[in-house]
Amino acid sequence: MTEEPLTRILIVDTSALTREILSRIIRDELDNIHVASAASGEEALRMLGEQRYDLVTTALLLSDMDGLALSRAIRDSHTNHYTPVIVVSGDADSRLLREGFEAGVTDYFDKSNGYKAFGAFIKSFIQRNSGLTGHILFIEDSKTSAAVTFGVLEKHGLTYTHTNSAEKAYEMLAKQRLTPHDIEPFDMVISDFYTIGEMTGGDLLHAIRAKFHYSQQELPVLVLTSADDQETQVEIFHAGANDFVAKPIVEEILLARVRALLLIKHQYDALKQQTEDMRWVAVTDSLTGVRSKRYLVDNGETFLRAEANQPVWGMIIDIDHFKNINDTLGHITGDHVLAALGKTLNEFFPDDMVVRFGGEEFSVLVAHTNADEMLPRIEKLRRHIEALQPAGVDITISIGLAGSEDHPNLYVSDFLMQADKALYLAKETGRNRVCIATPEGPQLSPWHEAKLKQLPA
Ligand code: GH3
Ligand code: MG
Ligand code: MG
Ligand code: MG
Repeated sequence: MTEEPLTRILIVDTSALTREILSRIIRDELDNIHVASAASGEEALRMLGEQRYDLVTTALLLSDMDGLALSRAIRDSHTNHYTPVIVVSGDADSRLLREGFEAGVTDYFDKSNGYKAFGAFIKSFIQRNSGLTGHILFIEDSKTSAAVTFGVLEKHGLTYTHTNSAEKAYEMLAKQRLTPHDIEPFDMVISDFYTIGEMTGGDLLHAIRAKFHYSQQELPVLVLTSADDQETQVEIFHAGANDFVAKPIVEEILLARVRALLLIKHQYDALKQQTEDMRWVAVTDSLTGVRSKRYLVDNGETFLRAEANQPVWGMIIDIDHFKNINDTLGHITGDHVLAALGKTLNEFFPDDMVVRFGGEEFSVLVAHTNADEMLPRIEKLRRHIEALQPAGVDITISIGLAGSEDHPNLYVSDFLMQADKALYLAKETGRNRVCIATPEGPQLSPWHEAKLKQLPA
């Protein structure tokens, strides 16, 4: 197996503190990453001229130019023409939406979602956009056309195996079909349509689809052809090609097609992996007896929207200093604590959706409850856990709450993100407490003991 290539990210921001924070988050979130930063647009462009970067993130306001101008300059440059640019901005600026596309901005991140979300965003962006990686089987007997294609592939970090005969390519693919683990698998095929020898590129293509049964998603094929008549082009598609590129080859066109086909292949692989993973994920979490995250993904949206469930509350419950329990009493005890908490939550919320959200985090969607019922009920839960002593261990939990009346029309993930922000405040301000995501931001629950004491009797 080959090593994953190092992903290089350039962060552009005027503030040294922001640069430091964003760099650290990216390093925490991703392996095999190199993060560099620039304090101005000028510096960024200089660095981009010296080094390849796979991704640039920029603030909208820079000292010497704005983020959109930087994006435009990147698009206009020869070497970084294709580098994705993400604008990290404090608000969904309407100018950004209007002019961002024209300036070649690839995506936006709204800073108000928090730094934690930034890490996840960059990670998923890189996964989604890793189109330009892959190993290509390349069949071409024309030296000129081969040389141009080598140049394009190499420049963009793609690896390939070249052969000038369709027969040899056929053998390699037969081997890949029979013993896929013995060779570095091909992600796609680029093939000349007419090649020397008994077997042509067209015959090979036919074999790929009809004999080896590779679908267009599993093994995309791009045909290179100098024939500009429509009959040949129809024939190429009939033979099972995903697409073709006309010779003489133009770099931009070849690259755009290769990128699109590799993305199809990577999406196919990801989907296949997901399907395999899912076979192992039961509907119920076996340790804690609550629903799995998969269940939340499949059913949360319907639960949140159901008329009969309104208003809905979402919460995230996180055990305080759970790592200490593992570290001092061992993982087995930790597991017992998790199991006991799961059981308690199922008993507390018999008609609701209790989910193991993460390692020691649970989320609950509670149906048809207004704030006057919900807040005392959650405070009761918090106190119950404080006194529970599962597996003989003293534990406390922090809870973040969000209600659908205050946060209407959100996807369940965004709804729970609100609850997560409230949880963050609960952790920040001392743990063992309930915080609520109000329209004005996260706040301590009015039912918290300390606050209760301040209330007039
Ligand atoms: P905080 O109060 O900030 O939440 O501190 P914490 O220690 O609870 O938080 P952190 O997220 O750092 O640690 C959570 C730990 O939970 C880390 C992980 O090893 C442990 N954990 C996750 N899943 C399981 C599990 O299934 N069993 C056990 N025993 N431990 C788990
Ligand atoms: Mg934690
Ligand atoms: Mg915790
Ligand atoms: Mg946690």
